[in-house]
Amino acid sequence: MSAPLVVAVDGPSGSGKSSVSKAVATQLGVGYLDTGAMYRALTVHCLHHEVPLGDAEAITAAAEDFPLMIGTDPDAVDVLVGGRNVTEQIRSSEVSSVVSKVATVPAVRELMRRLQREMMDDIAETAGGVVAEGRDITTVVYPDATVRLLVTASEEARLARRSKELHGHAEADAVEATRDQIVRRDAEDSTVSQFTTAADGVITIDTSDLDFDQSVQAVLAAIRSVRPEV
Ligand code: C5P
Repeated sequence: MSAPLVVAVDGPSGSGKSSVSKAVATQLGVGYLDTGAMYRALTVHCLHHEVPLGDAEAITAAAEDFPLMIGTDPDAVDVLVGGRNVTEQIRSSEVSSVVSKVATVPAVRELMRRLQREMMDDIAETAGGVVAEGRDITTVVYPDATVRLLVTASEEARLARRSKELHGHAEADAVEATRDQIVRRDAEDSTVSQFTTAADGVITIDTSDLDFDQSVQAVLAAIRSVRPEV
């Protein structure tokens, strides 16, 4: 029997990596891990306990005592912190605008790296495989994954997609209002992870000119180029 399938997906915000990874996991019948949701949940935990977001030691202490539960079925991805359902709150603009302050603390990343690696192994074993997505899965968390992908798109395409999600359209005003959530956040995140160009052995999938279904098919084809039987 072959080893469980471990798919690592990285990419910038608005590249489509979350929705595409989820759909791919569903189609393959394997588990799913949204590592960005974990950083977002830790941010909610810090805000709830009034941890100052400039205080790296205090954030690290909060990360060490972090009562997280996260759904790993791609069709049931609820996130609970201390029993409180924060699935919607983690997507709020309040959280999006400060999550990088939590995610750029090196000691927090080390704790998360270990937790994410363990979770990926557990999910892969129980579900027969896992698709995990984030910023450093192909490079730091699981560089030995079966398949490593960088899902990317032009800044223009990413801004237009996120504007539609947040504001329902991609007119100039909505694009400008979205810029902070995409460009500034990616610039901050880039100080600790490299997710704009593919590392050695990582397959790049540019979704700028692909719709959702085409993006899912492109990712499935890349996975099958490595594991034809899935
Ligand atoms: O993917 P998403 O936009 O939900 O990620 C939220 C934030 O979590 C990112 O802006 C980044 O700061 C952090 N993150 C990270 N490493 C990951 C996944 C997310 O630093 N593997």
